[in-house]
Amino acid sequence: MLVDITGKRYNRLEVKAFSHMVGKRSYWVCRCDCGKIVTLRKDHFAYKFSHQKSCGCLHRESSSERMRERHERRRAALCKQC
Ligand SMILES: [Zn+2]
Repeated sequence: MLVDITGKRYNRLEVKAFSHMVGKRSYWVCRCDCGKIVTLRKDHFAYKFSHQKSCGCLHRESSSERMRERHERRRAALCKQC
């Protein structure tokens, strides 16, 4: 049975409409907070164990943050030598 999750919000994703089924898996059209529309499999974003929390921008942001952190640390290390 298909549970309607239209209008629900999961992290950065807001469910806009049902898209389609593949076997027993349902796919939903979601709008991310960044404005991007993505179609995602329900079990990839709508449950506690789901790893998808955005269209992918969240991951990009946090990884660029990590890069910046690493850069800062390197600069701090360089500074100790001078
Ligand atoms: Zn996004």
